[in-house]
Amino acid sequence: MDTSPAPRRDASPRDLDRPLQFEKGVGPARAEKLGRLGLVTARDMLLHVPRRYEDRTRLANISSLVPGEEATIRGRVIKIRTGRPRRGPTILTATVEDATAPVDVMWFNQRYLAEVLREGTELVVTGKPKLYRNRLQLTPREYEIIHSPRGGPLLNDPDGGEAGDLSYDDDARAEPGSPADLAAGRIVPYYPLTDGISQRLMRSLAWNVVSTTADAFPEILPRSVRESRGLLSIAEALREAHFPSGDDARAEARRRLVYEELFVLQTGLALVRARGKAEIARVFEVTEDIDARIRARLPFALTDAQDRAVGEIARDLASGEPMNRLLQGDVGSGKTAVAVYAMLGVIARGAQATVMAPTELLAAQHERTLAKYLAGSKVRVAFLKGGQDPPQKREALDDIASGRAHIAVGTHALLQEGVRFKSLGLVVVDEQHKFGVEQRGAMKTKGDNPHVLVMTATPIPRTLALAYFGDLDLSVIDELPPGRGGCDTHVVRQSKRLDAYRKVKAAVKSGRQAYVVCPRVRGKAMLYDFDMEFGPVELRSAVETRERLARGPLKGLQLGLLHGRMSAEEKADEMRRFLEGDTQVLVSTVVIEVGIDVPNATVLVVEHADRFGLAQLHQLRGRIVRGEHRGECFLVADPKTEGAMERLAALEETTDGFKISEADFRIRGPGEFFGTRQSGLPELRFADILSDIETLKEAREDAFRVVQDNTVLAADEWAALRRRVAEVFAGRLDLGSVG
Ligand code: ADP
Ligand code: MG
Repeated sequence: MDTSPAPRRDASPRDLDRPLQFEKGVGPARAEKLGRLGLVTARDMLLHVPRRYEDRTRLANISSLVPGEEATIRGRVIKIRTGRPRRGPTILTATVEDATAPVDVMWFNQRYLAEVLREGTELVVTGKPKLYRNRLQLTPREYEIIHSPRGGPLLNDPDGGEAGDLSYDDDARAEPGSPADLAAGRIVPYYPLTDGISQRLMRSLAWNVVSTTADAFPEILPRSVRESRGLLSIAEALREAHFPSGDDARAEARRRLVYEELFVLQTGLALVRARGKAEIARVFEVTEDIDARIRARLPFALTDAQDRAVGEIARDLASGEPMNRLLQGDVGSGKTAVAVYAMLGVIARGAQATVMAPTELLAAQHERTLAKYLAGSKVRVAFLKGGQDPPQKREALDDIASGRAHIAVGTHALLQEGVRFKSLGLVVVDEQHKFGVEQRGAMKTKGDNPHVLVMTATPIPRTLALAYFGDLDLSVIDELPPGRGGCDTHVVRQSKRLDAYRKVKAAVKSGRQAYVVCPRVRGKAMLYDFDMEFGPVELRSAVETRERLARGPLKGLQLGLLHGRMSAEEKADEMRRFLEGDTQVLVSTVVIEVGIDVPNATVLVVEHADRFGLAQLHQLRGRIVRGEHRGECFLVADPKTEGAMERLAALEETTDGFKISEADFRIRGPGEFFGTRQSGLPELRFADILSDIETLKEAREDAFRVVQDNTVLAADEWAALRRRVAEVFAGRLDLGSVG
């Protein structure tokens, strides 16, 4: 039997836009339901691939069933009984027969099934047979109605779980060319469903759409690429993805779809990058003399890893092409020093540089760091932030426009229209994924093809970086500066929280400082957060926690308070008090998450740690590994789920930010991890970046090769690819001109 639809030469691209509403068995009501899954046209259905499959190629004869061994049988109902033994569950027994023997199939408490099953109903049933009083019984693990006589109501669908539509006439069987057995005798597809759409309907819809339109789906990969990578054609891939003819074919279908998706993504990134390279940037040569002067300004010798990054940057700056580099490194690995080096390299040649940070707190800290390194030099720094006094702001703007200021530090206030540079040579974007690709682009327009250095807050494994920041070159700082004390992490039950505060007290006694981080700011109302599963959960707000700590466990210590609702000025004051040691413990919300640098702080207590993301906790922990003293991190939580416990345990085990972010990525998925909306990149439908690494590498290699040689991409055989890239990246990355 054919398990996969046959090719159709007469399929036309117009068929892809055919509304599903007019497919057999659909109609307006179901079309609307399909719409909830994003399924409107035939094209949508083609791309709606099954979420899993079940191998039902081998059906067992009922006569050969063995007690205790799971099997799938197919047969026709010959008798139905319901019974209810003494206060037990209702039992529905259907005797099902195939050509070899009958067997009793039993369901418990599924009264509605009695309405649905009737004599003659054809079923596929999977389960483990049991022997009861010498008769074989089967309780289904899964079952499916293949055919119902008289086209009667098919209320049931075990997969959909939901009642179907009463008017659905059961004519999939009559459809010419469509086998009745989409549910048996084959590898059976299981689709993502929505209320009111049964697995059965979805399968027959998929069959009809795939068999009539798969051949019209545009092939964007030329034969040469398909052959060199051994890829199926797109039509074959779609047919095999929906109705596999075998396990290998199914895997190959998936590989083809994943490859195509990644190839399009990488082509887009390669184009962005090629466009950047095609431009001419100012050449900034960091001579030996300049290099020595810059290093003399830094209060420490660079680590080998920093040295390597600095070397790569210096080469970019002198290349004549605009630098587009991503600087990756774990929390505390010293990315700032590398950025300072780059800025001074540009300034030494008479141009300006700018640093854009995601928060005012962080921008202020960059300003402080720069002031420290640049004390006594001629380099001037201007500071721009939202809500600045008009005179102050005007002065900063003037300084930047006239070139009196060599460095502009700020938040996205730097992106404002009124910000003009005299000669912007380098843009540094700190903590990349709080900003998007677009903001990076906007900042570039402030200069004449300035060099761009992007720093990430969350280090990510190399493959992820390639997949998502493929338009950037990559420098990795994989080593921490020497003399770091490291950090011990403990997950602490709420009932043992006082132990953690005892450690805080002890640390303060020996001259250290501590952070206490809470998930909420203030107010009784915020102390309770209703959790669907577990009822009200008390959250320890920063304000409340500070009061309690001051009265109890940390009595006598100087406690600071920092949260997002304070004015920028209040925050800066509070931060300064902590930095200067006037306060010993800083109680705060996650505003300290990113970049704050107080090396004397060595203890961190995170209240309700299970409320934070993994990467976020790692960032927080990064606050206490900045000095020579060994840090101690207490994650206070009573995790309610296995997953939550595992995540916290991961932090106890490793301090490697790359590993942690990979785990976080696995748990949260790319959308949330990067904030896809922000990152400006399309969502991936088929690929799983972590497990599809090999395919990613191939797709990337091919895409970059094709784009590099402009004459290749311009060839006719790539026209379909160009159109697809233009479509997928429409409105993103400014790639409008590709198609
Ligand atoms: P991050 O990569 O998290 O932005 P920072 O640039 O803030 O890290 O650096 C963290 C700390 O390490 C700072 O206190 C900085 O002064 C210090 N540091 C950076 N590089 C070195 C180095 N090569 N040797 C010693 N200390 C360094
Ligand atoms: Mg930093």
